[in-house]
Formats: sequence, C-alpha cells, structure tokens
Amino acid sequence: MERYSRILNKTAREIVLLKGRPCAWGKCTFCDYIEDNSRDKEEMISLNREVLSKVTGEFGVLEVINSGSCFELPKETLAYIKEIIIDKKIKKLFLESHWMYRSKVKEMRDYIGIPIVFKIGVESFDKKFREEFLKKNGDFDSYKEVLEYFDSPCLLVGIKGQSKEIIDKDIQLLTEHFSHGTINVFTNNSTSIKRDEKLVEWFVEKYEDLWNDPKVDVLYEKTDFGVGD
Ligand code: SF4
Repeated sequence: MERYSRILNKTAREIVLLKGRPCAWGKCTFCDYIEDNSRDKEEMISLNREVLSKVTGEFGVLEVINSGSCFELPKETLAYIKEIIIDKKIKKLFLESHWMYRSKVKEMRDYIGIPIVFKIGVESFDKKFREEFLKKNGDFDSYKEVLEYFDSPCLLVGIKGQSKEIIDKDIQLLTEHFSHGTINVFTNNSTSIKRDEKLVEWFVEKYEDLWNDPKVDVLYEKTDFGVGD
C-alpha cells in the first residue's frame, strides 16, 4: 500500500494516505474502504507518524486523506500534522470530511491555523441518486448548503444506474460554484455497484477539457494520486 506521493500537475502538492478509525457512517453502497481502517490507536499513531515524516514541504501544500473523514484520525495524528505544517512551512492543507461532521469543520479550520481546502464526498448533487442509490447519508438539498461548510466537492461518475443528465448537472454545479473539485471515475471494487463502461467513454469524450482544468482533479483510476492500491 503506497501511502506517500507527490501530485505534480494542477495544484502541485504532497499527499499522504493515513489510517483512521472506521467511517462512522460506513453504509455507502459503492464503498469498501473499511479494509484500510483500524481500531488499534497505537498502530494508527505510529503508522501515521512514519508516513507524515516523509513530507518535505517542497510545494508548501499538503493533502491528508484517510479512508473516511479527517475527524476519524487520532487526535495525536492531528497534532503531528500541525507540527509538520510548522516544521515544513506548509501554507495550504487539503482535508476531507463527510457531511455528518459539517458542524466541526470550522473548529478544524481554527485548530489547523492555515488555509484548508475542505473536500467532501458529495458523489452527486442529485439527492435521489445520492441518497436512495448510493446511500451517502448527505441530506442536503442544494449545493448552496455544501458551500456553507466545504470548498471542494468530490463527484463519482460512471456507475450503472447513473444518467448522463445527472453527470452534466453535477459537473455544471461543481465548475460554476466551487473553487476546486475532484471527479472520481468509478472503478469496480468488492461492492455490487458496477462501472458503466459506455457511460465512462461518453464522459471522457464529452469532458476531455476537464483534464486541463486547473481547478478540477480527475481521477481515472483511484490510484491516480499515487496513493492506495
Ligand atoms: S462516507 Fe466515505 S468512507 Fe464512509 S462509507 Fe461512505 S464512501 Fe465509505
């Protein structure tokens, strides 16, 4: 499992994949992240310290991800992230959280003390698709509610059962209203949700310009950031 990498295009940054507690929701139909969670606090703290010690600060920008929300990282790991930010002169941090922790986002911004690009796994702004099909547990009605807390939505595209209209609308909302976003092209995993190859082909052709859009990261493979397996 690769846990440290450098993203060289668009917003150049170092990225670390840390280990946290199991996602407090854990019921999204497309997700099998649970395999990278732990309940062993000491193991998490020590692994995360080892991974974070690789950060050099060369870009002044760091992204921290875990298979869940940043609020599921041990508090000792969060304290070490703060130390690294100071030692390595990091000026901007990317973090990610689920909608259920939205009331704690401001607290985290204050705690970290440098600008944070807060990502959220929206998957889709279409509430019916997001809640009934993906079971995301993000009960917002409008992108405006997301904008109150978060900076950067992550969308999922290329799933059997998803329509082109849903994808068009999602991309329009992301590019028109947010300063940053991520589009994950779905790859098959151990869940029963399946990739729709024809839909992926359509998306890649229609939205090829997104690959050059500096504010949108497009992950064609889930390992495109260089971490994970
Ligand atoms: S919120 Fe994220 S980690 Fe939790 S089940 Fe859903 S996709 Fe997986």
